[in-house]
Amino acid sequence: MEKQTIDTLVGVLDKRMNRQLKLYMDICARCAICKDACHQYVATGDMKYLPARRAELIREIYRKYFTKAGQFMPALYEARDPDDNLLDELYDSTYACTGCRRCTYYCPFSIDTAWITATAKGILIAAGRGNELLGQLADAALFKGDNMEMFGEIIETGFKDIEAELAEENGRPIPIPVNKQGADILYVALAGSHSIKPAAIIFDAAGANWTLSLFESANYGFFYGDPEKARLIAKRYMDEALRLGVKEVVITECGHAYRVAEMFYEAWAKAKMPFKVRHILEVIDEYIKDGRIKVDPGAIKERVTYHDPCQIGRNGGIYEQPRDIVMAIAGDFVDMTPNREKQWCCGGGGGIVAMEEFNTVRLKSGAEKVKQIRATGATVLACPCENCRLQITELNEVHDLGLRIVPVMELVAEALQ
Ligand code: SF4
Ligand code: SF4
Repeated sequence: MEKQTIDTLVGVLDKRMNRQLKLYMDICARCAICKDACHQYVATGDMKYLPARRAELIREIYRKYFTKAGQFMPALYEARDPDDNLLDELYDSTYACTGCRRCTYYCPFSIDTAWITATAKGILIAAGRGNELLGQLADAALFKGDNMEMFGEIIETGFKDIEAELAEENGRPIPIPVNKQGADILYVALAGSHSIKPAAIIFDAAGANWTLSLFESANYGFFYGDPEKARLIAKRYMDEALRLGVKEVVITECGHAYRVAEMFYEAWAKAKMPFKVRHILEVIDEYIKDGRIKVDPGAIKERVTYHDPCQIGRNGGIYEQPRDIVMAIAGDFVDMTPNREKQWCCGGGGGIVAMEEFNTVRLKSGAEKVKQIRATGATVLACPCENCRLQITELNEVHDLGLRIVPVMELVAEALQ
């Protein structure tokens, strides 16, 4: 590898070298506790999916360029220059990682794999080895946002079609307001009627003053690993929230979109937003508890279980509201074991469902989730994340689980009185 390229990659590491990353570089005890926490390593036994191994690849560069011992005695201190072999291994282990952070939860030093993978993606992108498809999808979203005179009318027509379907299905008009100035809530949905219809029914039942904008919540810039692209994608709907003067931004049932909006955007934008950000399930839970919507407590007759999406549960801190909602409408709720912060990742996060090259490890790595689901005996799985639903739908087919996999808000819309 040319010296200039090596300098560029070391420069990326240098730029990201804050106290937190330096600590992660210095303190791994090689205890390997993280190996039993990672669904990918447990399912494959492949060293490249071992969380500590991925960090070790970055650490080898760190030792060579950021420590005296590694600089002068690289062989003795396991220090080396980045080379093609290192980058090949780093690519496979980094873009396969779902960012679930289960390993972080179990690591005695809480070494945060999400920080490591963010650093690894920065290095890979600088080396021209970022995942091409994720990069293209991020660019496509940015292109669409820059050309709303071309796409805006098509998107609005789509909303009108969904509104017409809702009226037909419900025997009465259920409005889908778009770009409504002075709305209290900007609801940021995914593309597709499944993300809009149940929310519209629930907002309507609650008498909420809400609106959509023309921008969706999915953020491939985040999966790709480019914070600037991710910020620009999120900025579209955040700017709309500012323009419309809403009191809060409500993110649909999508794990990574919730984290981007609630946990990263203000830091990326270096600005405090004048509205709060909530997940749609926090809002629905409040509607039920405040009596703004009435639900039938026995509406869902089948046994229901709930999957904690990593970005909403372990990484987002939302555990109880979805369970309270499900228990308000289903008489037979059985939680998975383990659950909440210890739940197993389904294997579908981090953009992996979009990358065909990881299909084998992705499907294999759902093994623990399959065992958990089977043990509940449930026939309905409530799941508030699009990526998890895609993954579990495939697991359902491959393992013949006989499950109905549904967004939580869809169950609520079914249960409204
Ligand atoms: S974040 Fe999840 S997928 Fe990535 S290494 Fe840790 S446990 Fe494995
Ligand atoms: S659990 Fe933490 S300290 Fe132990 S090997 Fe894994 S990353 Fe290192």
